[in-house]
Amino acid sequence: MKIWLDGGLQDTESARVSVFDHGLTVGDGIFETVKAVHGRPFALTRHLDRLARSAHGLGLPEPDRDEVRRACEAVLDANPMPLGRLRITYTGGHGPLGSDRGEHGPTLVVAVGESTRRPDTTAVVTVPWTRNERGALTGLKTTSYAENVVALARAREQGATEALFGNTVGQLCEGTGSNVFVVLDGEIHTPPIASGCLAGITRALTVEWTGAKETDLPLDVLEDADEVFLTSTLRDVQGVHRVDGRELPGAPGPVTAKAMRIFDERAGHDLDPA
Ligand code: PLP
Repeated sequence: MKIWLDGGLQDTESARVSVFDHGLTVGDGIFETVKAVHGRPFALTRHLDRLARSAHGLGLPEPDRDEVRRACEAVLDANPMPLGRLRITYTGGHGPLGSDRGEHGPTLVVAVGESTRRPDTTAVVTVPWTRNERGALTGLKTTSYAENVVALARAREQGATEALFGNTVGQLCEGTGSNVFVVLDGEIHTPPIASGCLAGITRALTVEWTGAKETDLPLDVLEDADEVFLTSTLRDVQGVHRVDGRELPGAPGPVTAKAMRIFDERAGHDLDPA
């Protein structure tokens, strides 16, 4: 397996990053997960835009887009696979112990792993912890993911594959690695970015392609929504058949199934939707 590090391809086994890299010591880093279909990245321009926004939010130097593109292409060429998940990681780099950044430049790593097509539906749980809709990191795709790791472990304990968060004012927000949509009276709704959720790329495409509305929703909308679905790079559009103890028989329901079809068709025709 080859990865990109320090400006070129390296063997995964021998590639080395400093043990004082701030991505490791203080979680000072950002990332993107990009789907790759037969060696071609999906929506890479949008991912590079979000990477730049996250870098700006953290005060990291703007990543060199051309280098990141070249790195993705090189890693995909070196590791052929039918369905892959590219991981772009960009950290504060080697620095002193503590939170101050050092003089050293950022670290860029691009790696790829095999992926599989998601099942059409899954189970989710809600967790008692909140997303902060007004935090310094809100909306940035940072490597500080420990909260998501804890919430996902809680979901797994209950036989689910995703945990959903509300925010500090009791509104529905997002999952650990996905955005959430609900169907109410035949209309599709998803929480607005102001809820504190990540501006998911799959979310944005789903809103554009299905006309879903961005609506403030109470967390307990999950108790009576007609249908619920998730979106993410690795799930695309995925129906939900159980929320906590509530079964949603027949999932994916008709509105979700249509959204899945629209997404698959549009994404299949345009690998880099503007
Ligand atoms: N929300 C969070 C917290 C995420 O980590 C992700 C993706 O990893 C998403 C939402 C979905 O975003 P995207 O559709 O860009 O993958």
